[in-house]
Amino acid sequence: MTDDQSHSRAVASLRGLAVGDAVGACYFIPLNQPLLPDRRLPPDPWYWTDDTEMACSVFTVLRDLGRVDQEILARSFADHHDFDRGYGAGVNRMLRLIRQEGADWREQAAGMFDGRGSWGNGAAMRVAPLGAWYGAGDLDRVAAEAAASAEVTHTHPEGVAGAVAVALAAALAATTDLTGYEFLDEVAERTPPGLVRDGIGNAMTLLPLSDPRSAAASLGNGRYISAPDTVPFCLWVAAKRLGDFEAAFWDTALVGGDIDTTCAIVGGVVAARVGVEGVPEGWRKRCEALPEWAGVG
Ligand SMILES: [Mg+2]
Repeated sequence: MTDDQSHSRAVASLRGLAVGDAVGACYFIPLNQPLLPDRRLPPDPWYWTDDTEMACSVFTVLRDLGRVDQEILARSFADHHDFDRGYGAGVNRMLRLIRQEGADWREQAAGMFDGRGSWGNGAAMRVAPLGAWYGAGDLDRVAAEAAASAEVTHTHPEGVAGAVAVALAAALAATTDLTGYEFLDEVAERTPPGLVRDGIGNAMTLLPLSDPRSAAASLGNGRYISAPDTVPFCLWVAAKRLGDFEAAFWDTALVGGDIDTTCAIVGGVVAARVGVEGVPEGWRKRCEALPEWAGVG
């Protein structure tokens, strides 16, 4: 595996993530009053949100170092933090304190939610390019690096597990041809025990369902912004739609919830399989360009 291959796989995943995020964000309705997409694309341009901004930091750290350095990743999150990109209140505060007051990211992350740490879906939403970068050759490494990337903001074991599961999925999408049950089985095997992994197990039993709304009724749709409420459904869609970016997007958006994040996760995983060319060109063109500092044009 060359660095070139890692780079191009990660860029494909990042582009798919950004398109999913940006189109999905058009359907996001605060307070989860779902406006169900009717498969007509929204007016452009489509602007990406915090999911993409943070994923660009994950990508650039890997590109520059070939591994996750938590200090540098925290610094990049803080330096590139744009308040208006839809961050959650806790992360907004944390990144502002790091940037403006030199706060320690370890203390900030560990102190979230009265010291329990965040189990939100924010570590999972940005991590697909990491899985694509490494590929499936060393899945233990993927899990370890994903956990390191998560801990910078999400220290609760479920928040970490969500990121590990998505990174494993992107790694398997990038360099294997697994789909469906076997795909989810491989992900579940290395996901730490807990609600996220239980949810992936549940997703495996629900693969025969064809309606994503039925799956989401059991697996969640991100409405609670937690990793266990978000990741299993995303991986259910990915397992069924790994070869078809558009179908995966609509299946994900259809169920409402935290749509920019669910579509970012699914977009990042599916694009790791189908490549940049598999992300519809018209969608890519109508999406806001990635930030210049990410260096991917
Ligand atoms: Mg977002």
